[in-house]
Amino acid sequence: MEYACSSCGMSAGDTTHEGLFVHAGWGSKHDTTSFVWLVPVVDRPAPGILCDACVDAHIASGNLEAVSRHVGPRPEPSIVARRRLFEHAAQETSDSFWSRHGDRAYAALEPDSELERAVIETRREMCDDHDIPHRVGAAHARAAILHGLANADPGFTIASARWARAISKIPSSDDEMSEEALLLALLEVQEREDNMGP
Ligand SMILES: [Zn+2]
Repeated sequence: MEYACSSCGMSAGDTTHEGLFVHAGWGSKHDTTSFVWLVPVVDRPAPGILCDACVDAHIASGNLEAVSRHVGPRPEPSIVARRRLFEHAAQETSDSFWSRHGDRAYAALEPDSELERAVIETRREMCDDHDIPHRVGAAHARAAILHGLANADPGFTIASARWARAISKIPSSDDEMSEEALLLALLEVQEREDNMGP
């Protein structure tokens, strides 16, 4: 099936751009690959169909990054891409649980609060922090909600940054000790930021 690229007008395959994601469909060059935007909404093309050339140009300029693929080798997402996926999943999960008003704002948390540590612990009980950022982000939102925290943005932004920095310190080959190592890395990142002050 041929479409017109909503960015350049040239003919395009079945590659859709919607929200944070670009999904390359069957028959396109990047068949079955999903990408996330690393740039803000204002720097992205309008949602719609994208041709292979436009996708390639955005990859080359660092605007777009592959995060998953059904066929072929699995991409290894960068820290920035992991942050985006974590935040996205956390926000979606939070939005699906709560309306936008009435609850205590997660953003009002003190960064070194016992509550945030409790959220991290609860999240670890729900999912393996080494796994897919979507799952960690969604688990983080559920953990926050369980502790009575809603309306989470920009709190999830802080949480995703800490998680992404911590996970970057853990070698991917580290299996046995990885969960404990990640918790220690998380607490280290948090304590260093707390000491740096506002
Ligand atoms: Zn195009």
